[in-house]
Amino acid sequence: MNEKGILVVVSGFAGSGKGTLMKALLNQYENYALSVSATTRNPRPGEAEGREYFFKTTEQFEEMIRQGAFVEYAKYVNHYYGTPKAYVEEQLAAGKDVILEIEIQGALQIKEKFPETLLLFITPPSAEVLYQRLTGRGTEDQKTIALRMERAREEAEMIPRYDYLIVNDRLEVCTAQIHSIIQGEHARTIRKKELICTMKEDLVHFLEGER
Ligand code: 5GP
Repeated sequence: MNEKGILVVVSGFAGSGKGTLMKALLNQYENYALSVSATTRNPRPGEAEGREYFFKTTEQFEEMIRQGAFVEYAKYVNHYYGTPKAYVEEQLAAGKDVILEIEIQGALQIKEKFPETLLLFITPPSAEVLYQRLTGRGTEDQKTIALRMERAREEAEMIPRYDYLIVNDRLEVCTAQIHSIIQGEHARTIRKKELICTMKEDLVHFLEGER
């Protein structure tokens, strides 16, 4: 029996290291599929169409919304971001655990639509480390860094809506922890309805055969 995959949503502050973590997870373990989102923001240097994102114009994005092509979408810092439906559905049906690396509004939409989604929140060990990571990138000015810190403070309010909080201190430890949480999730009784049914039927047949 091919068990359906788990939908896993991963969010975290800008600077939490969630992108690096997801790459490590996909490199180290099989059975994960990372969804590629569509966005209206411009590509950053080094980003490729279809790898980091599908880059769309606002008109194209809004047409996709009208066609119902997204599992969820949200506006974040003046741009649209959305998860295309087709890939997620195909991969889940094929038994893959599908990872969506998305921000909080999208995460909560997904949980509302699909309550069995696993929501993970990634945080650096402290505000100090977050600040250092943002400064260390060297790509943002002080004003942007201050805005990101302020946004992190707002986002921290929403952490209790997630199922797990993962502190990203050491990459290898954190990757292994995420993998084990997802594996544990597979064993939950709510995900084993078919197996429970079969087991009950088998027991009845077995007992009938015994008589
Ligand atoms: P960035 O522009 O830095 O790549 O992403 C900005 C934020 O948008 C990040 O928090 C990222 O996780 C989030 N994001 C990326 N793709 C999606 C998506 O498909 N839906 C939603 N709701 N957020 C997304």
